[in-house]
Amino acid sequence: MNKGKLLSTLPSVDELLNHEEVINILGEIPRRVVLSKIRESIQRERNKVLSMKEDKLQDYRIDVEGLVKFIVKSCYEFMEMNLREVINGTGVVLHTNLGRALLSDEIKETVWSVASGYSTLEINVNTGKRGSRYSHVVDIIKNITGAEDAMVVNNNAAAVLLVLGTMAKNKEVIVSRGELVEIGGSFRIPEVMEQSGAKLVDVGATNKTHLRDYENAISEDTAALLKVHTSNYKILGFTHEVSLKELVELGKKINIPVVEDLGSGVLINLQKYGLSYEPTVQDSVEAGVDIITFSGDKLLGGPQAGIIIGKKYWIDKMKQNPLTRAFRVDKLTMAALEATLKFYLNEDEAIKKLPTLRMITEGIEPIRQKAVELMNDLLKEKLDLSIEMMDDFSQVGGGSLPLEKLPTKVLQLTSRKLTVNQLEEKLRMQPTPIITRIQDDKLIIDLRTIKERDYSFICEALKRVLS
Ligand SMILES: *Cc1c(COP(=O)(O)O)cnc(C)c1O
Repeated sequence: MNKGKLLSTLPSVDELLNHEEVINILGEIPRRVVLSKIRESIQRERNKVLSMKEDKLQDYRIDVEGLVKFIVKSCYEFMEMNLREVINGTGVVLHTNLGRALLSDEIKETVWSVASGYSTLEINVNTGKRGSRYSHVVDIIKNITGAEDAMVVNNNAAAVLLVLGTMAKNKEVIVSRGELVEIGGSFRIPEVMEQSGAKLVDVGATNKTHLRDYENAISEDTAALLKVHTSNYKILGFTHEVSLKELVELGKKINIPVVEDLGSGVLINLQKYGLSYEPTVQDSVEAGVDIITFSGDKLLGGPQAGIIIGKKYWIDKMKQNPLTRAFRVDKLTMAALEATLKFYLNEDEAIKKLPTLRMITEGIEPIRQKAVELMNDLLKEKLDLSIEMMDDFSQVGGGSLPLEKLPTKVLQLTSRKLTVNQLEEKLRMQPTPIITRIQDDKLIIDLRTIKERDYSFICEALKRVLS
């Protein structure tokens, strides 16, 4: 048979639409979805025939039942939420691809009431006049950080762009060559600088920058001294950087503002909890930095946002920049940010109730207990699976505390039926995807980022995967 003849044996859209199993799902699945999936599957079949070698053509028979099953399956898949919860078994607490910081369960009602109802977003209820959407968080940020004023934009990348564009457009900004950070995606300090209209003057060397390097670079066109926290890497060995204090002193002497991109924005000294020192927002305010920017969804543990704090003079200027409107945050973000920041009024509350802080400060004993519980649940299922509890390390992630190794407990799973890659893939393709990591050819589930409510999902998924 030639290809043309073979193609003419493929079922038509109408034939498939009238197939009993397809008719059955039309009550549940919108017709337009069914139609598009029928067309796609016919096209797929056509392509299959067209790409077939001539000598294979005689063996080909169209499998209508198989095609229908495929259509039904793709229809249901299409109707599922694409953006949905996953189980994070990687142990990376701030996993950028999995949505970074988790919001606290306790703020659910608050955020939803603002999102689904009218709100005080831009009205001052005391005067009845128009209010500012920033006002909801300004006082609390001032209270926690000691800063003079604050505003919030879409993310920290936007914050840096707005700050440089407002303070240094067509002027020069001096920054150390050791701090020309790339965060990922297209966020690189030199490129952000260019986009903002500010001119980058990079000074010093990758490993060493001295105060005199900044001093020598100062000109009539200098608009700001910029410090960028190298949050996702460390330069070790023969190094020197100018401290924030020295930079601020220099700025004061020559009357030029100092700007700091802090990256993560930690509001609690994490050393108290056994982690390495990560510069806090409060330290920068105390050092006298004029403008500081940081993320809402890294170590702060809130929604995606870029927080700008510092001198009121500059914040006022930024509010007048048209970019502010383009970068503005919506009410969902504002509600989640305000509710998250409230926890910080009491440090113990913040550590206990913000999932990010709770997970990175969690001790080994509770993690071990979780590992034992999950292991017992899995053993009860009598799966054809070998399970071992092991010591390992989790990571903070999100480009924060890159060298920190958090001791953890993991379950190592090995199946006789499936290779480690098959197991990883099948778990990832579950209705609630389970994201694991492969290490030394073994599948690993790190209990640090697993919630108790995940156990039953994991058991059910493994049952399905191994049956
Ligand atoms: C993460 C980070 C950014 C970007 O922040 P987003 O909130 O992801 O836009 C910028 N600068 C530094 C130093 C960072 O660590």
